[in-house]
Amino acid sequence: MSVTAKQYHTSVEKSSAVLPTRPSFWNYSALKEIETCPRRYSLSRASYPDLWGGQGYPQIPTLAALFGDVIHGALDVIVTAFVDAGCDSPQGTSAVAVLRKLGGYTAVTERVIDDRLARLPTSPRLHADQRQRMERNLRGRVAEARAQIQAYVCRTTLIPSPSGSASDATTSGGSGSGFALPRRPAKPGAHAEVLLAAEELRLMGRIDLLKIADDRVDITDYKTGTEDPGHLDQLRLYALLWNLDQIVNPSRRLVSELTAAYPNRNVTIPAPSESALRELESSLKQRTTSADEEIQAPVPRAIPNDQNCSTCQVRQLCDVYWSQMAPDPLSLADGTWFDYQGMVGPQNGSRSWWLLHEKSGQKQLLLRTTATTPPLSGGSRIRLLGIRLDDDPENNATAAIMTVSSEMFVLTAPGNS
Ligand code: SF4
Repeated sequence: MSVTAKQYHTSVEKSSAVLPTRPSFWNYSALKEIETCPRRYSLSRASYPDLWGGQGYPQIPTLAALFGDVIHGALDVIVTAFVDAGCDSPQGTSAVAVLRKLGGYTAVTERVIDDRLARLPTSPRLHADQRQRMERNLRGRVAEARAQIQAYVCRTTLIPSPSGSASDATTSGGSGSGFALPRRPAKPGAHAEVLLAAEELRLMGRIDLLKIADDRVDITDYKTGTEDPGHLDQLRLYALLWNLDQIVNPSRRLVSELTAAYPNRNVTIPAPSESALRELESSLKQRTTSADEEIQAPVPRAIPNDQNCSTCQVRQLCDVYWSQMAPDPLSLADGTWFDYQGMVGPQNGSRSWWLLHEKSGQKQLLLRTTATTPPLSGGSRIRLLGIRLDDDPENNATAAIMTVSSEMFVLTAPGNS
């Protein structure tokens, strides 16, 4: 059944959204995200043809996320190479030879950093100086990344496949509906980056390391953030996917243990029993049904709260945020970072403007801009993200400053959207 994408008019110029349609498959993070705030899910994944040709709303990558991605990418390279070579332990002589061939931990780390930096999209929200700063900071953390990657690798256990390499049996692609690459039954041994799917549930997931022995099956997922109970829920979902995947696991073996590998330790839990898996299956069926309903709503539902909105990368597009969550600048202490919506009033200096309260038209804030901020246009309505409250004794006014990380969005004139 073909589904027509819905248009959603945000109040921001050039940001009319074509909302995403129901995905063929849900995965753990997408389900969590739509449950957290359906509007954030939809606006993040919508397309914005008037703004750019990229996928979703342009994001500003954080250094922490990029760093985590580098660790994950390097682990993928190294563990896949170990598995392909049939290594039985990261400390064994064959693993040492594999690492030498890869150029060592530092060389792998640097290559992955190069790759991730090259993949940063040319985005209307990521300016050249921000990109350069990001690059400098990331390259400055090579030694730290290398140490973390080595620690993860040293704690990884592998299982040799009976025939040496198990890679011919790994399943990093897919078959059946919706998958680009063929999937096959997984043979005994270790497998990196395995794609699992429960077709009836329309759920899929990619696990970092699957180990299949005669008497047990174990799943490991590398986690670069802080410990979170959600990581264990994700692993339980993987155990269910493995159980229901009729292609990769045709004999429907159960998983024995699940491991979340963190920078400093592994957290291992027993896998769910058969009856616990059936309960999980039924709860996930309800969750995917609810997620489908959310995505089909004419207007994506907003769930505003401090936790959701403070890190939301599409809050500039969300009218609910601006009417319910954005603070009154007069209630804030000096030095507070905040978001603001108002109207541009008279220019005060070469780089400063008065901002007016939208309803009363009274002067509310004196805004100092940066050398690269384009001139503000009097009478236009704007939203500002990440400005800092500052006192201005000279003008006896509440002032705010923009920095290189602040962002400004011009709103469409009423009736224009
Ligand atoms: S600002 Fe808050 S309510 Fe709006 S989309 Fe983001 S998380 Fe949801």
